[in-house]
Amino acid sequence: MNCTCNPNWNPTWNPTWQQLLEQYPHPLLSRQYGEKEKTPPIADDRIKAIAIVECNEPVVDVWSQKNRRIQMLPSPQAPFLHPDCNSGLPSCSKMRKTVFECLEKMVTELDTLAPSFGYKAGQISIRVFEGLRNLKTQEELFTKKFKEIKSFNKKLTDEEAEQETCKWISPVKNNIPVHSTGAAVDIRLWDEYNKTFVDLGSFGAIWGKNDKAVTFSEDITPIQKQNRYFMLLAAAKADLTNYSFEYWHFSHGDRYAAYWNNSQAKYSSLN
Ligand SMILES: [Zn+2]
Repeated sequence: MNCTCNPNWNPTWNPTWQQLLEQYPHPLLSRQYGEKEKTPPIADDRIKAIAIVECNEPVVDVWSQKNRRIQMLPSPQAPFLHPDCNSGLPSCSKMRKTVFECLEKMVTELDTLAPSFGYKAGQISIRVFEGLRNLKTQEELFTKKFKEIKSFNKKLTDEEAEQETCKWISPVKNNIPVHSTGAAVDIRLWDEYNKTFVDLGSFGAIWGKNDKAVTFSEDITPIQKQNRYFMLLAAAKADLTNYSFEYWHFSHGDRYAAYWNNSQAKYSSLN
């Protein structure tokens, strides 16, 4: 994708993450960037040690909310067919009510921040890939990723491969995967004016190895870095916590968000 989707983008601006953090500060993003070398994977013992006090909040369905700015990606012919479609699982459009409200807040923040990042208010919307995911699918995805990691790194022991897999897919064993709680959502940004996805670097970890997945990657273009910071900042201001290994994954009220925000985890597994 070239920069025609973002006519106000200054092609000579090639900021570092540090410069973006200084120009548009946010305490959560500063902390996540500062601790990026020791950030815990999603099923780390530090995360699993956090108590969950289930608040019994209902889930809402993105389809029935009919919010023009927060829509599901189109439905695929089969689950996980393509990153331009939603996951294709029956529960993918569901999430906890507060998480959807955070996305509504995020749209407002995107509109406010848009001019600073070369866009206009109303131009950039949210497209949802997946919210709630059942445990059986979670287990299947974990096994698939585990096999993929083993095939790329033949020297890894099963234990090492399992640890690496845990960075990308939350395990079901001895764990409450965040997508099964309705607290997490995987999103992309959509440019309403140019009818195209905002260039954030390759999306997803399901369709093979993705070197650009890590949020504060140095392996992305200047425009991808600016677009990514635009999304991260709008999300953080809307009380969504990004997962440092996947720039598209956000959550609220789960253990991972509790870890970074020194708050309580209030959502447990729904299935
Ligand atoms: Zn996710």
